[in-house]
Amino acid sequence: MLHLLLNTLFPKVCSACSKTLNTKEKVLCVSCRHQLPLASFHNTGASTMLDFFYGRIKVENATALIAFQKKGITQTILHNLKYKGQENISAFFGKWLGAELVEIPEYKDIDIVIPVPLHRKRKQKRGYNQVTGFGTEIASSLQIDYREDVLLKKTRTRSQVFKSRYKRSEQSTVFQLANISELENKHILVVDDILTTGATLENCALELLKVKGVKISFAVIAITLS
Ligand SMILES: [Zn+2]
Repeated sequence: MLHLLLNTLFPKVCSACSKTLNTKEKVLCVSCRHQLPLASFHNTGASTMLDFFYGRIKVENATALIAFQKKGITQTILHNLKYKGQENISAFFGKWLGAELVEIPEYKDIDIVIPVPLHRKRKQKRGYNQVTGFGTEIASSLQIDYREDVLLKKTRTRSQVFKSRYKRSEQSTVFQLANISELENKHILVVDDILTTGATLENCALELLKVKGVKISFAVIAITLS
């Protein structure tokens, strides 16, 4: 009864087109869901995403669920996830991708899922890490752990003295490992919301690859294809 009342007062709407959802639809209406430009490299076997990292770092497998398109519904959805508090979009895509990855042999030996970390202050401001739902649901499908406490994002402030007269502070972002022993010899799936240049995922992987025996794979909700 309460559920019905809440639904009447605050009907759930599609995260892409804002149309009221029927009881069977979750997050996206059927029409928007069918319009999504799928990338699905895990199904097609395309090396498109692996090619981003070729010659930079060793990556076992890499996949994206959808292809990001500016001014399209993918942009609306990702914007709503990141800036409009629509955290449930993250889990929606995680469930979807997790259900597919569990069927694919190349993803069967993954031991642990970790997100690209969000700085503590940014997380406080947004109220959530936009990748948490995505990573949690994938880990749940693969029946492995999801961990946010093994790779952290820190801002390091350094004071630098130039020619003894100028002093300025320089800020740089660094990724930092914690609980290293738990990562040894693990195949880690690093997840993020969107891949554009691959620089962030590369920096995370570089840090994780410092741990003995670690193998890396990537999964993102969306990839920017030029
Ligand atoms: Zn829609």
